Amino acid sequence: MRLKKRYGQHLLISPGVISKIVEFAQLEDGDTVVEIGPGTGNLTKEILKKPIKALHVIEVDEEMISFIVERIKDDRLVIHRGEAQSFNLCSLGDELKVLGNLPYNVASLILENLVFHKDCMPLAVLTVQKEVAEKIQKGPSWLSTFVRTFYRVEYMMSIPPRFFLPPPKVDSAVIRLSSLSHQPSFDLKDYKAFLTKLYSNRRKALKNKMDKKTLLRAGIDPMRRAEELSLDEVMRLYTL
Ligand code: SAH
Repeated sequence: MRLKKRYGQHLLISPGVISKIVEFAQLEDGDTVVEIGPGTGNLTKEILKKPIKALHVIEVDEEMISFIVERIKDDRLVIHRGEAQSFNLCSLGDELKVLGNLPYNVASLILENLVFHKDCMPLAVLTVQKEVAEKIQKGPSWLSTFVRTFYRVEYMMSIPPRFFLPPPKVDSAVIRLSSLSHQPSFDLKDYKAFLTKLYSNRRKALKNKMDKKTLLRAGIDPMRRAEELSLDEVMRLYTL
């Protein structure tokens, strides 16, 4: 098969890495699992070795879908053609475990969509560009804060390019997102708008973006910058 660059197709070919990724998801009897971008199905097959109830895969490329239909015969597998960044995940179940070796060109958009479906997704194990993994875990960026408001982010392992076909130009990493038990009940669209504004020109002093009084009420020095704020401080500013 000819792999398509525009769909970020880099297949994981290391059985060791694939089985570790599945272990990270701690799949249990009866779980409903979602895989984003199954490609030729290497990770898909490994997931299906577990006693899960159903596996929904979301794939954009018709050719990959035909390939999987031929290769994997399993009643638990449900194939959806679509784009993961706009897919309504909660239509698939209410306690989904999501896995995927994401197409790197749209990984951030997919991650954002996952957070918008947080109420039906307690856990996700995702392979992304290493730089993206580190940035989501540590920030500063609006998306990192958005994710970390609702999920614990763990850096599980790095994956060098040679474990993919074709090898990507960058290193990759696996991160795990686990729902926090105490989540603020924010309106997600509104919170996103607040964060994207806060982190735009994030080197500017906060007083240039926000009411000085609000900052002082939150106990935050107006001369500080968005990139220096802790998660708690950002959340405090949002709720004030
Ligand atoms: N999981 C496979 C393939 C990963 S490559 C493996 O590890 O071997 C990324 C996969 O995501 C490709 O199959 C690609 O066709 C698919 N893809 C690309 N853009 C997508 C999108 N927007 N939504 C869903 N799948 C997408």
